[in-house]
Amino acid sequence: MKYRSYTLANYHTLPQIQNLSEEDRFVIEVVGNVLPFKTSNYVVDELIDWENWESDPFFKLTFPQKGMLSEEHFNRVASLIKSGADKSDLRKVIDEIRYELNPNPAGQAHNVPELNGVKLEGMQHKYRETMLFFPSQGQTCHAYCSFCFRWSQFALTEEKFAMKEVDLMVDYLRAHPEISDVLFTGGDPSIMKTKFFEKYINTLLDANLSNLKTIRIGTKALTFWPYRFTTDEDAPQLLELFKKVTDSGINLSIMAHFNHYGALETKAVQDAITALRSTGAQIRSQSPLMKHINDDANVWGTMWRKQVDLGIIPYYMFVARDTGAQDYFAVTLEDAWNIFKDAYQSVSGVCRTVRGPSMSCDPGKIQIVGIAEVKGEKVFILSFIQGRNPEWVGKPFFAKYDPDAIWITDLKPAFGEKEFFYEEELNNMYH
Ligand SMILES: *Cc1c(COP(=O)(O)O)cnc(C)c1O
Repeated sequence: MKYRSYTLANYHTLPQIQNLSEEDRFVIEVVGNVLPFKTSNYVVDELIDWENWESDPFFKLTFPQKGMLSEEHFNRVASLIKSGADKSDLRKVIDEIRYELNPNPAGQAHNVPELNGVKLEGMQHKYRETMLFFPSQGQTCHAYCSFCFRWSQFALTEEKFAMKEVDLMVDYLRAHPEISDVLFTGGDPSIMKTKFFEKYINTLLDANLSNLKTIRIGTKALTFWPYRFTTDEDAPQLLELFKKVTDSGINLSIMAHFNHYGALETKAVQDAITALRSTGAQIRSQSPLMKHINDDANVWGTMWRKQVDLGIIPYYMFVARDTGAQDYFAVTLEDAWNIFKDAYQSVSGVCRTVRGPSMSCDPGKIQIVGIAEVKGEKVFILSFIQGRNPEWVGKPFFAKYDPDAIWITDLKPAFGEKEFFYEEELNNMYH
């Protein structure tokens, strides 16, 4: 099948859209001007159930929704569009609104590493073992998730993390023997032509780095464009390259991203999974928990079971990040924990490789382990799955119970403590 994308410029040509009222389309217009909007013909034709488009998880996953902007932001943009304001006035207001939506969460600017005094802008190194690499050809996606925390790099050009040269990465890996994993991310690196993958991966393999154990590829192509691994023109070469990685003794991990079991049901995705697994690659899957899309234990339990049936390893459940349309998607930490627990209880041990619910925040990945009463005080039990300091990992700590909390910044330490155990050290890291 041939890939086609739909954005604000051409989505109204879709026959399926003709059933939407003028008002519904105006909402797409307003919100789509502020938050990036792009979907693929696969999502439109094979995932979205247009009979029930208003409640369809894949429609809400890729099409702009009214609740994604505050009423004030929505009305500001709507009235400008209605009054036929000129492009530059509209642009100014839109940029203002974008900057109010916390475009760069979790202290990402602090993760950019240095080598010999030079900042390596296309890399991030936050957790000891794993380096992120942002190949410059992979900084967009086949479709955009409406909740994406990297949304700003599609909308705000200054926020791009990207790097052309792989040689600096190799130098950095040599200088940092503690790094065992390189994670290609973006955007979605699978948007790259295979020839770019070949350049990056062959350089890595040829460097013969004894510390390099795992190459991970973060991609949502299995949800948005599974044909990348089957019928795309350069798919066979990509599969060959993947096989070369695993043949060389390096673990190849496809970090997939499924938000709903519906994305595992098409023949196209199942063929792609089979093709990837035949190269010796492992596929892991992670997703945030989001209101309107998958805030239901049954959706998660069914999804994990289906993943395991197809040979995919359930990996993370995340909490919706503090950026973009967080208010639309946010689930309280208490609800997140309950959904996780109920889903986790419903599946067999082979599905319980999943960890969460986890907040990816400045200090690390913080898991909500549970809610309990300790010495008469109701508390959240938390624990780091990853930390800027690896010594923070795996030690339980406690926050006051708060039924409205949706993010780590809403939480206060329990038992009268002034701050969480890591806070002083975290502050010192930046000074
Ligand atoms: C999640 C994440 C990783 C990978 O962590 P794992 O737990 O090993 O999957 C690496 N770097 C950053 C910045 C991350 O957010």
